Amino acid sequence: MTNHLFQLVRDSLPADPSRKTFIETPDGRRYSYAESPDRSGAYANALVAAGVKPGDRVAVQVEKSAEVVFLYLGAVRAGAVFLPLNTAYTAAEVAYFLGDAEPKVFVCDPARAEALANVADMAGIGRVLTLDAAGRGSITDAADAQGGAFADVARGPDDLAAILYTSGTTGRSKGAMLSHDNLASNARTLVDHWRFTDDDVLIHALPVFHTHGLFVAINTVLASGGSMLFLPRLDAKAILALMPRATAMMGVPTFYTRLLKEPGLDRQATASIRLFVSGSAPLLAETHRAWQARTGHAILERYGMTETNMITSNPYEGERVAGTVGTPLPGVSLRVVDPETGDGLGTDAVGMIEVKGPNVFKGYWRMPEKTAAEFRPDGFFVTGDLGKVDARGYVHIVGRGKDLIITGGFNVYPKEVETEIDAMPGIVESAVIGLAHSDFGEGVTAVVVAGADAPDEAAVLAHLDGRLARFKCPKRVLFVDELPRNAMGKVQKNRLREDHAGLYA
Ligand code: ATP
Ligand code: MG
Repeated sequence: MTNHLFQLVRDSLPADPSRKTFIETPDGRRYSYAESPDRSGAYANALVAAGVKPGDRVAVQVEKSAEVVFLYLGAVRAGAVFLPLNTAYTAAEVAYFLGDAEPKVFVCDPARAEALANVADMAGIGRVLTLDAAGRGSITDAADAQGGAFADVARGPDDLAAILYTSGTTGRSKGAMLSHDNLASNARTLVDHWRFTDDDVLIHALPVFHTHGLFVAINTVLASGGSMLFLPRLDAKAILALMPRATAMMGVPTFYTRLLKEPGLDRQATASIRLFVSGSAPLLAETHRAWQARTGHAILERYGMTETNMITSNPYEGERVAGTVGTPLPGVSLRVVDPETGDGLGTDAVGMIEVKGPNVFKGYWRMPEKTAAEFRPDGFFVTGDLGKVDARGYVHIVGRGKDLIITGGFNVYPKEVETEIDAMPGIVESAVIGLAHSDFGEGVTAVVVAGADAPDEAAVLAHLDGRLARFKCPKRVLFVDELPRNAMGKVQKNRLREDHAGLYA
């Protein structure tokens, strides 16, 4: 038996690996494809030397570098379960994740090693190793000492390759158990669907602790033999400067809104790019149109989750419809059901999105009840997202089930109200939430970011009057400088609900 996921990497190696760039970093370092097996083998040896056995978790909270990619591949080859953590997590948060995951080894930034040593100690972790943004640290020293020869540990399609914690947008992050084939099958599908080849050069400015930057981007490139231009973070000017050398970019919607603020963004600057992908949060139809007007490119929006990898995508050829996430990817089944009864719904009816396929995870780590609750008896996973399928088969995400507002017994989908408010001149964006209300159960509330010549509360309410049914109209409109977002550009409605909890009390 081979190592299922790493075999995909091996099978995709270019003919002359040492001449082909895999990753290039801003300091001018190039890592060739010859280093992919060699460096990952060295990290695999370092992990085994630190006591890692097949099935053990390897937790990692480090800055982005090419070496993290090799460490990820090394963990996979050692048969371990790679477990990356958001770099923004505090020591207290890391303590929770380490306690939950019980990794054999914890790799952290040297600058935090002292602060986190205690935390790791309390979680009973044997080994704390370090890795910094330049790729140096005690784990790299160990890897260098060991060398790159490593015999892949055999792993089957259903063995775990990673535990990835969800973004925590709706509550405490959950550990999604992802198998070798969850990742390998989705990578193959995306290579095919998005036409990735070894001629591609991807601009990679996403974090590598989240499914978007780690699996969607890196696995797709690895499975096509293409190259990546690594940037430590979103930097619109740096991205613009790299564009003439690139053929593709993957980003969250914030990438596109930031780039649109750059005067240099035009057709010429984006001439060599064949594909712009957006996901992880809803892309405003307005952003899609503005991007097309400025660059001539239609952004390809797709939809996925930590638990499911990618579910739907707009077409590569064919119409990319703004405000939709496209159609289910090959091999993925998607249905929309009545959340209460589970009955399937027809065209254009809004309900709970459920999915099934080789992409769907094996369950939540150490949460058997939660896992059981989110799977239907016929194997479909309940995404928690509300949406509909239109007559052409395109999926529209309406929002999260947890954000649905029930006011006076009526359902209000925040997106419908947000779309009307966002269309007003002088409004940048809005988030509509439900807040506890003694009469109505929940009161519809709009939190709005205004630009120049902004309307006031009364003007927003007057604009909505007649456009939306009475029960959908906000009871209050609150103005803020910006909406709270997490690392993936997702609006944190949880925080908004907490901040304004007492509004109608
Ligand atoms: P948590 O599950 O911890 O609350 P999260 O759901 O934000 O956090 P992720 O797995 O990173 O964690 O995000 C998946 C969610 O992101 C999806 O369920 C969906 O709500 C949203 N999402 C992803 N892509 C899109 C998209 N193109 N349009 C709208 N929403 C999207
Ligand atoms: Mg989620």
